[in-house]
Amino acid sequence: MSASLPKVIYIAGTPRCGSTLLDRLLSLGDDVVSVGELNRIWKTGMIGNAVCSCGERFHDCEFWSEVIRKAFGTLPRSEVLHLHRAWKKVVRFKNIRQLRRSREQTPPPGPLSDLAAATARLYAAIQAVSGCKLIVETSKNCVCPFFLSVIEQIELSVIHLIRDSRGIAYSWQKKDKIHHWEDGQPVYMESQTLAKSSRDWIRDQVTALLINGRETPLFRLRYEDLAADPQGTLLLISEFLERLWNHRLNTRLETTLEQDRETVANFATDHIFSGNPVRFEVGKVRISPDTEWRRSMNWKDRFVTTTLTLPLLLRFGYRL
Ligand SMILES: [Zn+2]
Repeated sequence: MSASLPKVIYIAGTPRCGSTLLDRLLSLGDDVVSVGELNRIWKTGMIGNAVCSCGERFHDCEFWSEVIRKAFGTLPRSEVLHLHRAWKKVVRFKNIRQLRRSREQTPPPGPLSDLAAATARLYAAIQAVSGCKLIVETSKNCVCPFFLSVIEQIELSVIHLIRDSRGIAYSWQKKDKIHHWEDGQPVYMESQTLAKSSRDWIRDQVTALLINGRETPLFRLRYEDLAADPQGTLLLISEFLERLWNHRLNTRLETTLEQDRETVANFATDHIFSGNPVRFEVGKVRISPDTEWRRSMNWKDRFVTTTLTLPLLLRFGYRL
């Protein structure tokens, strides 16, 4: 494989698993650029013109304007819609077997071929504009690594980020959490039922477990371990990347001098147009585990979620 190919670290998981935190921590490493949920670039970025974490709208953001210009020149709306439809058609659980076969041969003309070509151009442009060798993407969709492994013009690795299903279910229950502000008005984070968040959690973990680490370099990680010891966890990821690509992250974090000795990260402005509100945080930010669900989730919701997701909770080593 060529040393010049974009090296992609894809974070797979389920929504609310802490992927934006991991994304931003990784972006503190040498030669790393984080791009957030790149799978939403067609709908949320190109069509929705979402607010980038730099404060500008997608089409006014210097970084993304340059990436799109470099990758495609001009991209007509009809082509953007075609790529968005291609994404929805290709990146589906039922296509995993076909995607696995496609990595052995060039896909025939069609949605997969078009989407793979556009995505390859996108990664090459991100690499050129950022000047970074490593690109962190946090789309989380667990079928997506099977699609990305079809693209010959990138080198892919996957971090499967796991979070306790009860913490995720509790997060989804909140209805008053502000996601971001648009034109002075709050945009709230979505909420969903325990049954749906548990079902989605199971689906995503099972799909991620289908990723074959011998075919696609894979690192599994629990959010709780990352949040409790960011420095130590980043060191483990750095060792993984060094074995894989001879690349050390050299991430610099600080520790508070208070009794609890929390980790402090000094975030710069990134260009992330889709993801958790953490993407807007700039400057010194304290990193601490989000364990509110342990104190505030009622016993009935906790019992239901634990029961529904029990086999995988045990597999990932969670206490009941
Ligand atoms: Zn931006």
